[in-house]
Amino acid sequence: MVMDKLVSLCRRRGFLFQSSEIYGGLNGFWDYGPLGVELKRNVREAWWSDMVSRHNSLVCLENAPSPYEMTGLDCTIIMHPQVWKCSGHYDLFHDEMVDCAESKRRYRYDQVRGRWVEAKGERIFVATIAESDDESKEVEQRALKFFRLRAKDADQLRWDSDFITLPEVEGLDRVLGPDARQLGTLTEPREFNLMFKTYVGALGGEESVAFLRPETAQGIFVNFKNVVDSTRVRVPFGIAQVGKSFRNEITPRNFTFRSREFEQMEIEFFCHPKDSNRWYQYWRDRRMQWYTDLGLAGERLRLREHDSQELSHYSTGTADVEYAFPFLPPGEFGELEGIAHRGDFDLRSHMEGKLDPNTRPLEVEKGPDGQPVWRGSGKDLTYRDDLTGERYVPHVIEPSAGADRATLAFLCEAYTEDEVPDEKGKLQKRTVMRFHPRLAPLKAAVFPLVKKDGMPEIAKSIYTALNPHFPVFYDEKGAVGRRYRRQDEAGTPYCLTVDGQTLTDNTITIRERDSLAQRRIKIDDCVSELQRLLT
Ligand code: ATP
Repeated sequence: MVMDKLVSLCRRRGFLFQSSEIYGGLNGFWDYGPLGVELKRNVREAWWSDMVSRHNSLVCLENAPSPYEMTGLDCTIIMHPQVWKCSGHYDLFHDEMVDCAESKRRYRYDQVRGRWVEAKGERIFVATIAESDDESKEVEQRALKFFRLRAKDADQLRWDSDFITLPEVEGLDRVLGPDARQLGTLTEPREFNLMFKTYVGALGGEESVAFLRPETAQGIFVNFKNVVDSTRVRVPFGIAQVGKSFRNEITPRNFTFRSREFEQMEIEFFCHPKDSNRWYQYWRDRRMQWYTDLGLAGERLRLREHDSQELSHYSTGTADVEYAFPFLPPGEFGELEGIAHRGDFDLRSHMEGKLDPNTRPLEVEKGPDGQPVWRGSGKDLTYRDDLTGERYVPHVIEPSAGADRATLAFLCEAYTEDEVPDEKGKLQKRTVMRFHPRLAPLKAAVFPLVKKDGMPEIAKSIYTALNPHFPVFYDEKGAVGRRYRRQDEAGTPYCLTVDGQTLTDNTITIRERDSLAQRRIKIDDCVSELQRLLT
């Protein structure tokens, strides 16, 4: 329910729109509107400035094993196809999907859920991909239809399992697919590569095949040597990158949570192998703290360490920062960011050739001819410590975050309904987006109480004074109460109002979004007061 309201607010107030909406939209693609673009920019900028540009490399931060440097990159989306062969994405980056012979639709195997039900002596599994709020209703309606029962006969349906996912169902012949009328129309699961394929140049043959990057990380690994050679960074140091990634997700869903085009904020942190576990702990906690500081505090946010079966083949430790999004069933969490200890997997793969995940220690995967299945670059990506003379392949800790998922979590967390008194003291419902001031799209709004007595002129001069410092909004239309409501929905932390008293003493009211507290400040102090409040 909350999700429906949030989705509608996002559209109504210009946070998010469906991509190409006037043509019916394109599944898995979203556009950020005027308020959304500012919100997402603030998320990205908070990340970049906290992790990179305002990182102090001279001091040892709390719980860090030592001081460290941070630097950035901006790589292309299309890269040499060999990058994806050596990284493992070409062979391994797939999801399992099932096709429906009847509806011709395709679903991600692990995202189809359903329940076993018995009626009229027959037991079937009714599957659905409906969102959690609607799945019980949807499954019941489809079971009634299948058994040709009326709604009033729903008590003839005997449900004999809770919701489970398709991989937990043995054999698919008793399954009623999410859009099917008959049983057993789903195929056995098959692998489906998630990379978008494209062609570079005009010829369009197999030699010109390339891929849209499914993650930004590989651009960092293949530039490791360039960065070391062109700067004076020394291990330990991190390289950060923000940019678009593309995955041909089989079932994009849950608003922007699983999109086909999205933005990542990734760090590859290079360190000495002997210190890597301590750096892994540091980055896990540092990244969790970042979300907490920006307002995702509380039990909806958690840090979950993967158990050994869940770890990727290259990883000796992975933890996810997760958020209990309102579209998930109670008790379930969705990943905001993964922090992985990747050892030397990536740098070695790009030097020597794709590593075989089944070997310990990792060795290059060989074909029947004894040659590497995918050749590496052959370039030396080792690091030489110029103080000790030691040469080694650095280990990597990777905090990999999604800008869109973070933005969605901040939107969900901010959405609040409460009641506030109107001008006549009567309680009215209001919707307020309680964004952290750093993330709020607008920092302040300036209003003249009424459109006369010189109030608009004073309010405009305040707007002009604030404008070089913060994104601020001027509004003189309609009743002041409605103007406040509009700013509450946009998440603007402060509203400044010019009223009758301003004309006599040069003070204005400043109203605080969350507490609704109002007090008077001098016009001349507006900029410094907002600066104080917002930092
Ligand atoms: P999931 O298991 O949810 O598909 P993942 O483990 O494959 O995610 P990673 O490869 O670790 O994701 O990507 C790092 C981050 O990129 C994720 O934590 C998430 O924030 C973001 N991300 C990944 N896929 C998507 C997507 N389809 N839409 C939006 N963000 C995504």
